Amino acid sequence: MILTAPILLTMRRGAPPVTDGAIVVLHDRIINAGPAEKILRQYRGHRVRSFENAVLMPGLVNVHTHLELPALLKEIRSSTLPGWVLNLIEAKKRLQPVDYRTATAENIKTLLRTGTTALGEICTHGASPALLKQSGLRAVIYHEIISMDPRLPGPVPPAGLARGRWVKTALLRPGISPHAPHTVSGPVLRQITAAARKKGLPLAMHVAESLDEVRLLQGKASGFSRLYEAAGWDPNWAPSAPSPIAYLALVGILGPRLLAVHAVHADARDRMLLKKALVPVAHCPRSNNETGVGTMPLKLFLDAGITVGLGTDSLASSPSLSLWDEMRSALALHRNTGVTSHHLLLLASTGGAKALGMGSDIGSIEAGKKADIIAIRLPVKNTNDIYSDLLRETESGIMTMVNGKILYQA
Ligand SMILES: [Zn+2]
Repeated sequence: MILTAPILLTMRRGAPPVTDGAIVVLHDRIINAGPAEKILRQYRGHRVRSFENAVLMPGLVNVHTHLELPALLKEIRSSTLPGWVLNLIEAKKRLQPVDYRTATAENIKTLLRTGTTALGEICTHGASPALLKQSGLRAVIYHEIISMDPRLPGPVPPAGLARGRWVKTALLRPGISPHAPHTVSGPVLRQITAAARKKGLPLAMHVAESLDEVRLLQGKASGFSRLYEAAGWDPNWAPSAPSPIAYLALVGILGPRLLAVHAVHADARDRMLLKKALVPVAHCPRSNNETGVGTMPLKLFLDAGITVGLGTDSLASSPSLSLWDEMRSALALHRNTGVTSHHLLLLASTGGAKALGMGSDIGSIEAGKKADIIAIRLPVKNTNDIYSDLLRETESGIMTMVNGKILYQA
């Protein structure tokens, strides 16, 4: 099949937009892309699907979300992250398994409608793997572990995982998410690291999200003391590390298989540790804003050469799962540091793909890559910067294709 549109954004490094572009899709792959005139001549007889008034580009990659959580933000909002965590624990007491399934199904619809084709999902309640399998989306499903016990609750993957949750398909890859440096003990982190290395599993971890986390790890008083009390954890636990990222370096978990989520409070030394260990970072600006943890200095991460992807986080800490909304907020937040719409679209495509370990398969439109492609409405306003026009106007897409299959059409 050949897809054509007035504008094609390949998102390949340094490649300008293609006017009147075409993409050739064979089964699950892109076999060619370029000016429509040339492509249509070269592939005569192929079925053509023309998107008038549209832009074709790679599907967006949401590197960090929790699909199972319903829209809890209004109810659990707090001025501090520890307050938000305690409110979330309280709100979850009223939720049933069916609520997690319903939320996941709704959230998958949002992803497809807004042009997200791949994601990093944190699975806590067991609802998302089966529904993601049905959806046809591409994902890394990180199974969450919270344990301040020095012993692992079971072998990795967690022994308690019910059948059907450890899903591995052509589109879905399982991984582990030790929740955060202050909610998983050092010995358990080391066991997870060893198991992940042995089994080739990807890891994702919330880290350096709040100043309370920094203070706790440094052995100072922090807002998490109430959480420790409620959970029955040792209130005196503290590794006395200079920072959460320095602590993770000591534990030995830093490496390219780890996705560091948030990294709001990472100083120059921390960024150097991440860069040296080739750790990619998930940037979730709206979630950071809603939980009051501060602003991640995105430009400094990019200048340091660290791979960054964009994540919406969950509906418990963010108003939507749309990466278009996330990019707009990120632009408003970082514009004065020199971050542009083009930078953000790169983060939401190639950056995210690389952060999830899928860089050779997805993230850009080029021959040999998987056919994860979206069509979105051509912006009405034309300012000669297609990236900023798209960011200003896009709410949802026209077509979403994953692995050569059309999963959504407006
Ligand atoms: Zn999260």
